[in-house]
Amino acid sequence: MQIKESPKMYDAIIVGSGAGGGMATKILADAGLKVAVVEAGPFFDPADPDQMTQLKWPWESPRRGAGTDRPFGDFDTAYGGWDLEGEPYTHKDGTKFDWFRSRMLGGRTNHWGRISLRFGPHDFKHKDIDGLGDNWPIGYEDVKPYYDKVDKLIGVFGTKEGLPNDPDGFFLPPPKPRLHELFYINGARKSNIPVYPSRLSMLTKRINNDRGVCFYCSQCSRACQVYADFSAESVLIFPAQKSGGQVDLYVNSMVREVTTNSEGKATGVSYINKEDRKEYQLKGKVVVLAASACSSARILLNSKSEQHPNGLGNSGNTVGKYLHDSTGSSRAGFIPGLMNRKTYNEDGVGGMHVYTPWWLDNKKLDFPRGYHIEVWGGMGMPNYGFGFNANDFNKFFDLPTGGYGNSLRADVQKYYGSVLGFGGRGESIALEDNYCEIDPTTVDEFGIPVLRFHYNWSDFERKQARHMQQTFEELIHNMGGIPLGDTPTKEEDYGLHAPGNIIHEVGTTRMGDDPKRSVVNKYQQLHDADNVFITDAGPFVSQADKNCTWTILALSWRASDYIVEQLKQQNI
Ligand SMILES: Cc1cc2nc3c(=O)[nH]c(=O)nc-3n(C[C@H](O)[C@H](O)[C@H](O)COP(=O)(O)OP(=O)(O)OC[C@H]3O[C@@H](n4cnc5c(N)ncnc54)[C@H](O)[C@@H]3O)c2cc1C
Ligand code: SF4
Repeated sequence: MQIKESPKMYDAIIVGSGAGGGMATKILADAGLKVAVVEAGPFFDPADPDQMTQLKWPWESPRRGAGTDRPFGDFDTAYGGWDLEGEPYTHKDGTKFDWFRSRMLGGRTNHWGRISLRFGPHDFKHKDIDGLGDNWPIGYEDVKPYYDKVDKLIGVFGTKEGLPNDPDGFFLPPPKPRLHELFYINGARKSNIPVYPSRLSMLTKRINNDRGVCFYCSQCSRACQVYADFSAESVLIFPAQKSGGQVDLYVNSMVREVTTNSEGKATGVSYINKEDRKEYQLKGKVVVLAASACSSARILLNSKSEQHPNGLGNSGNTVGKYLHDSTGSSRAGFIPGLMNRKTYNEDGVGGMHVYTPWWLDNKKLDFPRGYHIEVWGGMGMPNYGFGFNANDFNKFFDLPTGGYGNSLRADVQKYYGSVLGFGGRGESIALEDNYCEIDPTTVDEFGIPVLRFHYNWSDFERKQARHMQQTFEELIHNMGGIPLGDTPTKEEDYGLHAPGNIIHEVGTTRMGDDPKRSVVNKYQQLHDADNVFITDAGPFVSQADKNCTWTILALSWRASDYIVEQLKQQNI
């Protein structure tokens, strides 16, 4: 097969354009580097009327409001999901891992929840506290300057609380709690559970002239046409291009491997152009992999050569190992105190206005790591149908269920906004035996070998999920409510979601000082090839009881600064 080589020589080739790739693009291009961004999905701009789904009515959707099996609904801006046609993945030993992928410029940042939390000092050194997992080779003090810069560049709202392991940042004003959130605050107070304004990356105040301010439509998962929420293309890549950065975008381009020379150094990447299905090569002085934790591991494992027979970066046999996702368990409750509400517009930002960070001491519990609580509810714009069978709630008052016409209308008005739900999102322990590897017998539609997953939760995570369920039931009772559905049993893992479901997968190319037990050093540079860097969540040593993206962004900026310095000093 003929492979077409580009004559151009880039300073840096960045694979993937989500959180990690978007930030690397902005920092490297702003530093004057000639950059190629190679992205498997199509071009996307939330302000383009042809691509926009924000502010559309349910009946404008492809099935005119009827249900869909598309994750998060027809208007969600993920061009992808847990299953992608033509791009399978497999499992080993009957284990389960659900792998979410968004194929588009900006990756998953177009529809993420924008919960933007810093990891705290304990999160980088948790082994010192409980002896489990590993410490990071860096500490909070190394990342703090970059969290500060990310806060200021992108914008995040919140409040300064002085909590020891949930560090404050540079916050925009947070939106006020809504009625269901006030109920939550009251219920939590009865159990001494703290509640704080949430920390989300939507602009509640203008920070520059390129981006608008949030007008509270609650639809961030559709990506914001005025760029008031954080998406990698609108906030990082387009501004890098606008300020004169030399950025060439290669969209619909699926990277197969990193190419290397006889010294084992990277020379560029090869990719399949999805439009003509031909293979091309790009040349660059530096390769930055930011294709998401598992995709970058896959590219490394598929980059075999004489110098790297086990795959690039895999001399220590660590690529793909220590894969771990956040834990999750959920519960909803019916709150009679929220019935018969006046109807008014209660939309806010596209996410919760308050949340609870981890508040207990694990030394006094039977599981080692914490979780935070996310809360949902209220009277948002109905999406597809009403999301619940309104008159079924009559059963709680010994009234007849079922009905239509005026009685159904009356029931909808009576019950709409009276359901409130919780999601616990917790930290799991990274284990060597949870991994992804190349499946020797399966390829995707481009002929690229696919990933095979092996993943089991341990009892630590199950016990944590049991605690989540007990807490949620207590909170619902405190609010005078009735938990919906049965309490998940031990056999049901206490409602613990399958790994991959929470979409915070990290750890597949973890950082460390020892090349035998880690893939990259503390600057996210491969131990085995010093001109290859990884700026997605692969280098995470542990997950923390926080969502991971603010840390991806801070670390990508830090690694990019290091790349610029190393190129200047001609070290790479
Ligand atoms: C519904 C949802 C809600 C979420 N909510 C939150 C939240 O509230 N807070 C939080 O912190 N995190 C959240 N996340 C997780 C967050 O989206 C991810 O952590 C983050 O986007 C990861 O960034 P990334 O750059 O590593 O990968 P991605 O954003 O996935 O970007 C990777 C890019 O690489 C491209 N790519 C992959 N393989 C190749 C290849 N071989 N060649 C070329 N390109 C390739 C992909 O197409 C993609 O565009 C959420 C995710 C989802 C789906
Ligand atoms: S809630 Fe605000 S930031 Fe989110 S899409 Fe609507 S206007 Fe934009």
